[in-house]
Amino acid sequence: MPSYVSSSKVERAGTDVLVVHCSSSRFQAGLHDFLNQGLNLRSNYDLLVIPGGPQCLTLIEYLPKFSWAGWKWFRFLVETHELKRLILIAHQDCSWYKDLPLHLHTASDARQRQEEDLHRAKAKLTKEFPHLRVELYYAAWDSSGRVTVEAV
Ligand SMILES: [Zn+2]
Repeated sequence: MPSYVSSSKVERAGTDVLVVHCSSSRFQAGLHDFLNQGLNLRSNYDLLVIPGGPQCLTLIEYLPKFSWAGWKWFRFLVETHELKRLILIAHQDCSWYKDLPLHLHTASDARQRQEEDLHRAKAKLTKEFPHLRVELYYAAWDSSGRVTVEAV
């Protein structure tokens, strides 16, 4: 393919929203729907997609360099783009959590560990950026395989 021209035009309005979620291919289409239809963001948001998603903000003792990079990206986006709203999404059956040692959390249940991290990240973000509105969500799938998202 020599070149490709999208039917989408460049977004010139700017945004004050940052979304952070995991890289898992299984959830990309469902999360795209949730953000654009469910939250009505109309594809106008900054997006940070990394393994484990917002979990990178809670690894200061266990993986300090990884945590440092996560915070560096957050600070850059929040300050440079003057963000006001942060949407953090964890998801069911996240492979990233399967490699984490259990001692990092108070619970052994995967979802509880993820929710614990979402709340830890929110507490740290709210302390560092008091003007930010931080929303927490958990994505899963129902018996038909449809992606579901609920507030945490
Ligand atoms: Zn994941």
